[in-house]
Amino acid sequence: MKPPAPFSQPQADCALCPRLTRFRTDNAKAQPAWHNAPVPSFGGLDATVLVVGLAPGLRGANATGRPFTGDFAGDLLYATLLKHGFAKGHYGASADDGLHLVDTRITNAVRCVPPQNKPTTPEIHACAPFLKAEIAAMNRLQVIVTLGTIAHNAVLRALGLKLSAAPFGHGSEYHAPSGIKVIASYHCSRLNTNTRRLTPEMFGTIFARARHLTGAAQA
Ligand code: URA
Repeated sequence: MKPPAPFSQPQADCALCPRLTRFRTDNAKAQPAWHNAPVPSFGGLDATVLVVGLAPGLRGANATGRPFTGDFAGDLLYATLLKHGFAKGHYGASADDGLHLVDTRITNAVRCVPPQNKPTTPEIHACAPFLKAEIAAMNRLQVIVTLGTIAHNAVLRALGLKLSAAPFGHGSEYHAPSGIKVIASYHCSRLNTNTRRLTPEMFGTIFARARHLTGAAQA
């Protein structure tokens, strides 16, 4: 019998990372109304664009249960997706705001909130099979936008590529032999936006390029 295909979403009680499991359990005691579990990806598996972030923020995605939702980084990400036609509706920083993604999916390299927003290398590796399974399940996938170096490297590994094949650089683009195109962006974090390392214009250019690469006109 064939083994079951690896599932792209960790179970709610995933215990692969002892430190993250402890953190999640402690947060659940302190904030029982929060999601406090691996944050599932947002958007359909039939999307042509995948946006990959780092990991849920404590009071944002970890609380609301939707990637980038309620996180500082989500303000710029969702505003940019709306502007470039990758999302429709109103972003209200909560999972029931009615916003929906258009031909786009959002996930994180690490699905559980890490202390201080910093996953360790073993945690990144433990979560990697989920990203790999997710990419494999996206039959129409054309473009992956990676937010920050950790997400970028996680995507390269998930695609079976050497990190040296496509070193991270804001705006750099790599066309994988599979046909998937990877566009790297600085992460839309508070630090990067406050220091203007990443401006809304720079971020917009990344998604305009993603739109161009999909070959689809903006709806
Ligand atoms: N929230 C997420 O879901 N991912 C990030 O990378 C940052 C904040």
